[in-house]
Amino acid sequence: SSTVSRRVQRVRPSPTVALTGRVARLKAEGRDIISLGAGEPDFDTPAHLAAAGIQAIREGHTRYTPVDGTVEMKNAVIAKFRRDNRLEYQRQQILVSSGAKQILFNLIMALIDPGDEAVIPAPYWVSYPDMVMLAEGVPVTPLAGRDQGYKITPAQLEAAITPHTRLFILNSPNNPTGAAYTAAELRALGAVLARHPRIIICTDDIYEHIYWAREPFISLAQACPELYERIVTVNGVSKAYAMTGWRIGYCGGPAALITAMATIQGQSTSNPSSIAQKAAAAALNGDQACVREMNRHFRERHDLLVAGLNRLPGVSCLEGAGTFYAFANVERAIEMIGVADDTAFAEHLLATSGVAVVPGSGFGAPGHVRLSFACSMQTLEEALRRMGKTLGTGI
Ligand code: PLP
Repeated sequence: SSTVSRRVQRVRPSPTVALTGRVARLKAEGRDIISLGAGEPDFDTPAHLAAAGIQAIREGHTRYTPVDGTVEMKNAVIAKFRRDNRLEYQRQQILVSSGAKQILFNLIMALIDPGDEAVIPAPYWVSYPDMVMLAEGVPVTPLAGRDQGYKITPAQLEAAITPHTRLFILNSPNNPTGAAYTAAELRALGAVLARHPRIIICTDDIYEHIYWAREPFISLAQACPELYERIVTVNGVSKAYAMTGWRIGYCGGPAALITAMATIQGQSTSNPSSIAQKAAAAALNGDQACVREMNRHFRERHDLLVAGLNRLPGVSCLEGAGTFYAFANVERAIEMIGVADDTAFAEHLLATSGVAVVPGSGFGAPGHVRLSFACSMQTLEEALRRMGKTLGTGI
């Protein structure tokens, strides 16, 4: 009797979108709200990249491009993978899409048949399981808890795999936890995956350049070259270059799968914006100083926020290796305040202190909240002060 498909009814409303709506309403009522819900850098797109977009329009790069991306952009992606990740790809192994999100959607649609399973370690980015459900697949979400640094173990991965498993999605550095896998940890997961040749592996490296762990960032295909033929390496310009609105993501992977993904793109959105591809190629080919500069700010804010959170009663937060999110365990604070769960905790915090955070249950990890530090140091200091008042300290 419903007017929409069963497929779309499986999808849950995004917890971050719900929060954005509530914050907008409170602000409209005149409340002074600090939102730590943002999923994007607060910086403007660097001026030389904005200029590259303007120049693209002036020079008439305003038409359809090849569906899977321009030769110039694909060459920039190939050079990026070689420079940053020591990965070699041919042009037929590259796809450019309207954001990493569309890359992931194309991949899941190209791979998952009804009933196929995708292993997605929790805490996870909210879109992965919902995309799998849209494809009529089944998300399998083993929980990597705080005691294991929010990283899945090889034994957990092995236990989650069944004869129906088709896809494994890894996200490092991770949204929402900021955790990143070391080379040794990737190799240990790789040893499990090597025993299951039917599984395609997707590594979402979108936070590669927002990273400060001691060991340098390493991509899965670099750590496990024996799995190269089965890995789709996903990345994009949104987070590294503060280009979320330009909507350019890309990947490298097995040519046959890339072709299938391009077919889906060809019958849905066709090519990503010609103008944005020009600016994204300029980003990948140009001076990387802007990336390092933004990273320095994110790290400074991370240190301030995580230290401040750990001073709040009932709150405990592990250091992240990267991203612009802190994932705080608030189980004791939930008990102290006497609310039901992380969602009620976030509501309470918003109502009493005007600080908006995202409940962890949306990421598959109840008892936590995610706080974005894509905002100024002053904003973070004020947010910590207000949370301290609500949770009963005088800081
Ligand atoms: N992957 C992860 C883990 C993300 O957090 C996001 C954005 O929030 C994306 C992918 C999508 O990025 P975009 O579509 O802007 O490239």
